[in-house]
Amino acid sequence: MDLGLLLHALIPSSTSFAILAAFFTYSAIVGTIIPGKVVPGVILQDGSRLHYRCNGLLSLLLLVALLGMAAKMDYISPTVISDRGLELLSATFLLSCIVTLALYAAGCKSRNQGSSLKPHLTGNLIHDWWFGIQLNPQFMGIDLKFFFVRAGMMGWLIINLSVLARSIQDATLSQSMILYQLFCVLYILDYFFYEEYMTSTWDIIAERLGFMLVFGDLVWIPFSFSIQGWWLLNNKPELTTASVIANCFVFLIGYLVFRGANKQKHVFKKNPKAPIWGRPPKVIGGRLLASGFWGVARHCNYLGDLLLALSFSLPCGISSPIPYFYPIYLLILLIWRERRDEARCATKYKEVWAEYCKLVPWRILPYFY
Ligand code: NDP
Repeated sequence: MDLGLLLHALIPSSTSFAILAAFFTYSAIVGTIIPGKVVPGVILQDGSRLHYRCNGLLSLLLLVALLGMAAKMDYISPTVISDRGLELLSATFLLSCIVTLALYAAGCKSRNQGSSLKPHLTGNLIHDWWFGIQLNPQFMGIDLKFFFVRAGMMGWLIINLSVLARSIQDATLSQSMILYQLFCVLYILDYFFYEEYMTSTWDIIAERLGFMLVFGDLVWIPFSFSIQGWWLLNNKPELTTASVIANCFVFLIGYLVFRGANKQKHVFKKNPKAPIWGRPPKVIGGRLLASGFWGVARHCNYLGDLLLALSFSLPCGISSPIPYFYPIYLLILLIWRERRDEARCATKYKEVWAEYCKLVPWRILPYFY
């Protein structure tokens, strides 16, 4: 595609904004009214805590069913998103800029001194807009941080399904596309099945809501995690049976480590005496889990996620680096994040953390890093 065409494809049409408006309105209304387990968040510095309604799985399944019916009745085209990928990307980018400027302005005006809404201003506008100034800003009673991450994960699946529809319509559906779609759908459904685990993750508990997080949720997750699907629309790599089996194996191991580690930590936080791998847990200073995956490496969950990311790209073969964008980006992000998290934990847990590091010397990959 030449530059002129590319720029033209990036200009958002009113249809793109209408798609985004419909999607966010649906997410806000359905997320508020349909039932779901209400999960208490972590206790904040001022002693307060938020409550999250974890109904993402139901919201997503209902959305897919509604879109499927609308497509069957010819109200919408199933390829409406894949046909407008670039303009939807720029429309979402614009939306992220507008939303975060509004968040910055609203945060500056806030007189609230509670942990969730207290503005943290450094005086550097770019820094404050990028990292955000409030921990848990709300809009019409909706916690925006939880809302945006959910929208990003849902958006990823909707984009993938539209790309799948395009490849079926073009009669280019390949084994690689089926594998990629299958792994992603399992990952996304699993994410929503265990949505309550999100409430104790770094993004939700520690990160303020600024451009970095909003852009990451709304633009980065759905549009960059789906690159493999877009790439497979125009490429058909040949896969051997052995490589397909190896690919499934990487996915399975990645999933077991990722889900197992996150689940162990979540269970431990709720009940520090709950058995890990059938044995009483090894606990340091009464606060840190040092058995199960958390006794293998201090961020085994990142290792699992990296293997999963790799498994989403392996169906594309090794002829091009483009489909490997996601695992490479994730590797950089998780190493950076792990460093920031370790610094936070060292400050929070002091000598207990030092003891944990001595007992479990590996950060992510045992005997390597
Ligand atoms: P973690 O879920 O690992 O949370 C880190 C926190 O867990 C620490 O700050 C500390 O918090 C607590 N903790 C750390 N070690 C221990 C221990 N041994 N025992 C008890 N508590 C401990 O990190 P993230 O929130 O970054 O990641 C969650 C998941 O999300 C991961 O699987 C990650 O791979 C995934 N992720 C995926 C991304 C993607 O783009 N695909 C991006 C970012 C994350 P506390 O103060 O509460 O004790």
